Amino acid sequence: SVHLVWFRNDLRVTDNKALFNACQDKQAQVHALFTVTPEQWKTHNMALSCQAFIHNALLDLSISLAKLNIPLTIVISDTYSNAADKVAEYCQQHQATALFFNHQYALNEQRRDEKVTELLKNKTTVYAYHDNVFIPPGNVVTQQGEMYKVFTPFRNAFLRLFFSQNNASLPIPEIRTHQKAVSPLKAPLFSLENTSLPSFISTEEEALKRLKQFCYESVPHYAKWRDIPAVDGTSRLSPYLSIGLLSIRQCFNRLYQTEPDFLENNTSGAFVWFNELIWREFYQHLIVANPNLCKHIAFQLWTEKINWRNNQDEFNAWTQGATGFPIIDAAMRQLNQTGWMHNRLRMLTASFLIKDLLIDWRWGERYFMSQLIDGDFASNNGGWQWAASTGTDAVPYFRIFNPTTQGRKFDPDGEFIRHWLPELANVPNRYIHTPHEWAAKTNNSLDYPLPIVDHAKARIRAIESYEEAKK
Ligand code: FAD
Repeated sequence: SVHLVWFRNDLRVTDNKALFNACQDKQAQVHALFTVTPEQWKTHNMALSCQAFIHNALLDLSISLAKLNIPLTIVISDTYSNAADKVAEYCQQHQATALFFNHQYALNEQRRDEKVTELLKNKTTVYAYHDNVFIPPGNVVTQQGEMYKVFTPFRNAFLRLFFSQNNASLPIPEIRTHQKAVSPLKAPLFSLENTSLPSFISTEEEALKRLKQFCYESVPHYAKWRDIPAVDGTSRLSPYLSIGLLSIRQCFNRLYQTEPDFLENNTSGAFVWFNELIWREFYQHLIVANPNLCKHIAFQLWTEKINWRNNQDEFNAWTQGATGFPIIDAAMRQLNQTGWMHNRLRMLTASFLIKDLLIDWRWGERYFMSQLIDGDFASNNGGWQWAASTGTDAVPYFRIFNPTTQGRKFDPDGEFIRHWLPELANVPNRYIHTPHEWAAKTNNSLDYPLPIVDHAKARIRAIESYEEAKK
């Protein structure tokens, strides 16, 4: 028999349910396949850095699979629909008896999987696994059987279920001694516009190394340092989790091994970090329960009536890190240059775009996706709808971050700002969040834009717009 494993955002050999199960039959010939879908990726605004990250992860995967004697084929097709056809063709050509894959939860991905399942009906058995989350979506529900609309009760119900199930990670499958030896693939696997990846090495080994180091060294300080962007206080594992170079169970198991008592103290760094993994879980479950989210429709429907200003020049200033608000601009430059942005800054920059500039959150959602190396539909949409007060338990619309005071709070000495805005290097700490004040007082000239909005006025304008929509 021939077993085909269709890899997607699970580019690893360790703790991969689809791969592990495909290898359970010792006699089966196991093949692996990945579909590159440039048109679909464009429609999803996938960042070039993310595409390059996937490319290099596939090279690493092909090495790991070659060690098991499993051949990996890269198939180029435009769209998901096309990919489903190609996978079905592959199954037919190689007389695959079974297809194995791990679920993806966004709508287009689900439709692709329904299509391939339909095409293979009565020919190839399809086995699909819930691998990308701790608990399959649809299982953490209220007594009425509905998805939670608020995070905390979701988390409580999640924890009860989570600790009643087996969360062990699966090992790497054994070498397929009866399969022919294969060579790893050679670059390039598909055409790439951008191959420079300054800060993230795309291998499984690197992901595990980072996880281990983070759990030993940083988790104890996580609660304290995770909000300070100048400090490397978070795991930076998001790119690895997004494309599955690392599994969510590996994260939990490593954490649990390092700090076995962490659940007893909900202010410990370990608990706070686990809580973030549950936020990830929450957003994955949410898009399954509310497929409209995948169509970029607001969770709170009344917010669809907001009259956005959508000023293109102001949007451009925001994308370029030229708003005149140092913390916002430094954050946007971090995103543009590295493909990653600190969580606290994602919240601030999103809030600034939506509330201060009154620009539709979907513009920001799309722009983030086009830059993020860790771009993940559910988390990105969840984060944007949170900031826009259009989401589940989003920030209330009348609580609006002040970018200057937030900057003072989370980057008090401007260390982060100076790193990304060298033009402000000489501004004293006291004025780093209001550099033009200093320039005016001292007769210095600054090569840095004036603030593009008056925050106090913009705040009132935003509240009024939301209230108008709510009427
Ligand atoms: P850590 O603090 O080490 O957290 C560990 C892991 O938990 C992360 O890697 C991530 O998988 C998960 N996580 C942490 N915070 C959140 C959260 N608020 N929501 C969901 N999962 C979380 N995360 C993405 O992975 N992809 C995105 O496209 C994305 N877009 C976002 C957009 C906005 C507007 C906001 C506010 C948040 C977004 N996030 C996104 C969530 C969060 O900012 C990142 O996951 C986090 O900054 C990644 O850094 P880290 O790995 O060091 O996180």
